[in-house]
Amino acid sequence: MKQASRPSKLQSLGEFGLIRELQKHSHSLSSDVIQGIGDDAAILTTSKNESLLASTDLAIEGVHFDLAFESLQDVGFRTAVANISDIAAMGGTPKFLLVALAIPGSFSPQQVRTLYQGFRKPCQQYNISLVGGDTSSSKSGLFLCVTILGQVEKKQALTRRGAKVGDLVYVTGTLGDSRAGLQILQHKVKQKKLPPPQGYEGFLKKRHLRPTPRVAIGLALSQDRLAHAAIDVSDGLSGDSLHICEASGVGIEIQAASIPISPQCRAYATASNLDPIDLALSGGEDYELLFTTAHRNQRKMSHLSQTLKTPLTCIGEIKPKSFGRRLKLKGGNDRNIVSKSYEHFSST
Ligand code: ADP
Ligand code: MG
Repeated sequence: MKQASRPSKLQSLGEFGLIRELQKHSHSLSSDVIQGIGDDAAILTTSKNESLLASTDLAIEGVHFDLAFESLQDVGFRTAVANISDIAAMGGTPKFLLVALAIPGSFSPQQVRTLYQGFRKPCQQYNISLVGGDTSSSKSGLFLCVTILGQVEKKQALTRRGAKVGDLVYVTGTLGDSRAGLQILQHKVKQKKLPPPQGYEGFLKKRHLRPTPRVAIGLALSQDRLAHAAIDVSDGLSGDSLHICEASGVGIEIQAASIPISPQCRAYATASNLDPIDLALSGGEDYELLFTTAHRNQRKMSHLSQTLKTPLTCIGEIKPKSFGRRLKLKGGNDRNIVSKSYEHFSST
């Protein structure tokens, strides 16, 4: 029977609809749960002065990674960074990692060692201890589930919920690079006709395969609650900015011209006839931080950017909910921001 034409319930709900439903029905039984489902990590009370942060991420062969164009070391590295980035988005210190694996029987011990070299690299860099996990065989492809635990000072955690009307919206680094890098890697495999190799290729591929979690910036932003709300850009600016709006009950205006795009991403977009703004809006896995801060903190932001040697760009402003979520275009026109981020189950 043909099934594709009638969307299943999961397809119509989408990944985020499903999570909202899970969130609605998950009443916390304990007052020690400060934040449950719905943020980059859960915030849990464990001591008088500190909270525990906990987050977990799946990486499935054929869904999240493709061994045709990335090494096992890249897969381990990226999966660890995806977790570390969620702790950075909460303004916390990443501390412990647990890795659960389902491995196809065709894998060699050396391949598993290579995967672990990937996990260990960012762990060493951020002083994170790999403390456990689980191992199983898999009948179809490699499955990873990485769990991270972190720490944050009590009441200092950044959430998606705190954005206030009048806040400025900032983003670290540049957006769209990871998607551009992925497209370059994918095109190579599909042997599509690509523009001749240019200087940008290596940079963009590295941005996809070896992303940088913004731990130091996250920590600085949580000090004295410099940021009111934060999220890491794992699904693309369009979807992730909407998560902040939804959680905070606010609207947003983003200036398209202010979105930071690297010269390499711009060059790739020109050569491939793409709009670099679209790459930034829809491209996930940049692992930059998107956050809001009071207007008066502008100078502090410039100072922070210099001290931590990380670009911080103001891309818009938080508006009342009634304003909606708008992208201001170069010519003065504007349009609604609709999520173009990758969403599991979604047919679009
Ligand atoms: P991120 O992109 O930051 O990793 P997700 O979009 O994956 O966040 O998840 C958003 C929130 O939903 C998180 O708080 C996460 O813990 C929660 N969540 C996702 N899937 C489930 C699930 N199956 N059961 C319970 N909570 C979930
Ligand atoms: Mg996240």
